[in-house]
Amino acid sequence: STSTDFLLAIEDLTVSFDGFKAVDTLNMYIDKNELRVIIGPNGAGKTTLLDLICGKTKASSGSIKFKNHELTKQAEHEIVRTGVGRKFQTPSIYENLSVYENLEVSYPEGRGVFGSLFFKSTDKVRDTVLQIAEEIQLLDELDTEAAVLSHGQKQWLEIGMLLMQDPELLMLDEPVAGMSAKERDETAELLNRICQNRSVIVIEHDMEFVKKIARKVTVLHQGKILAEGAMDNVQNDEKVIEVYLGH
Ligand code: ADP
Repeated sequence: STSTDFLLAIEDLTVSFDGFKAVDTLNMYIDKNELRVIIGPNGAGKTTLLDLICGKTKASSGSIKFKNHELTKQAEHEIVRTGVGRKFQTPSIYENLSVYENLEVSYPEGRGVFGSLFFKSTDKVRDTVLQIAEEIQLLDELDTEAAVLSHGQKQWLEIGMLLMQDPELLMLDEPVAGMSAKERDETAELLNRICQNRSVIVIEHDMEFVKKIARKVTVLHQGKILAEGAMDNVQNDEKVIEVYLGH
């Protein structure tokens, strides 16, 4: 198999900040419909890696191939249009709009919350909103003002807003932070639904959650891959144990 078989192929990716390599000649491959979890201690380079993929940070060298696009050569807004969605930890929902409206304004043909004032809602937009609302389990909350949703529901709404853009790759940074046990379980189910027809990369610290969702885990340490594989193998890897338990 060649790197073109993968949805995302990262090769020899490096970024230096004042000579410090936060990501160091990294190679990583993501399949279609894969759910990949990235773990690793603080400062390992996890967030920087997602920043590189979404174009927020520019690589010093190496390549990031997504379908037939070379993402290192594209601007952040172009990368969104190629089908890469990124959820940041700070929420970006419109608190004073309903769940329905939040999803509706996220449809690519809408032009954000102000453009939507002039935006004629079509059946296609409505169908997409209902389909995504069902996927994120907010079909019963369509008319609810976003401000009064639970913490977990707000996170799912934000994921739904990204799904409205029809991404082929979704990247999430600690999606279950601050969630109740029940919300964490529901988020695990949501991620499994999402990757039935999209790929997902998740940075996560909650190991119970990782065990619930992970098929394949990548452990980052000092900007490099320390271990990669099934969670059972990775968590018994001596190098991984050393990094997590101290020396
Ligand atoms: P993680 O998400 O795994 O905790 P980060 O990707 O946030 O790690 O950070 C990796 C390393 O890169 C850290 O040492 C961090 O201080 C450094 N770093 C990240 N972004 C920058 C930046 N813009 N300028 C300088 N150093 C940075």
